[in-house]
Amino acid sequence: MITIKKLSKIFRTEEVETNALNEISLTINEGDFVSIMGPSGSGKSTLLNIIGLLDSASGGSYELLGQEMIGQKEKLKSKARKENIGFIFQNFNLIDELSVYDNIELPLIYNNVSSSERKKKIEHIAGVLGISHRLKHYPQQLSGGQQQRVAVARALINDPKIILADEPTGNLDSKNGNEVMELLTDLHANGSTILMVTHSDYDASFSQKIILMKDGVILSEKLNQRNVDVLVTSKN
Ligand code: ADP
Ligand code: MG
Repeated sequence: MITIKKLSKIFRTEEVETNALNEISLTINEGDFVSIMGPSGSGKSTLLNIIGLLDSASGGSYELLGQEMIGQKEKLKSKARKENIGFIFQNFNLIDELSVYDNIELPLIYNNVSSSERKKKIEHIAGVLGISHRLKHYPQQLSGGQQQRVAVARALINDPKIILADEPTGNLDSKNGNEVMELLTDLHANGSTILMVTHSDYDASFSQKIILMKDGVILSEKLNQRNVDVLVTSKN
């Protein structure tokens, strides 16, 4: 699904040059649930943003669903992003001026879904996520846990092939954080491919593979034996 080879990212400002990613190679297969961990400044968000086509790399190769993305025109990348990727951020990134309904509706408008179909989809996902009674409210009127559920709804509304989550529980208390992790685990069980950045060993324990980054390189990739066992058993 994702094949990354020798991916680099250099941020240049007037004074400094930062090698945020230094020849990273990585493969993500369909149905994987992978965590990325590592200290602040390791390049985790930079990697996720490039995979999510929100930022461009300085060098290397990134194939998404068999198509090279590095060096592609913005228009093609934007289309690939809207069709394939759902992004969940630590600070929710909801638009405060729009209602919950309108926030969730945005990706559907981008993808030219008809108004009646949009309504059906939004009502369905709001029911699944327990926010049906909040659709007319504005983000600031909701708790953090509810805001993240709206953000999850917005990320999922187009049935993306890949869900990218950058510290999705980072601004939540443990109860709401656990609910978000349960949501991600359910999505994974239903076949979603998930790549999640986290500082939490507990959150990472839900994934099948843990990638450890530091200073723009991958230090290790470790299978989470417990979940791999579960997966093998359920496949048999
Ligand atoms: P992490 O998510 O692991 O904390 P980041 O990917 O945010 O790390 O950052 C990796 C490195 O790149 C850091 O040194 C950071 O300061 C730098 N960096 C990230 N974004 C920018 C930017 N927009 N401009 C300049 N430097 C950046
Ligand atoms: Mg980060």
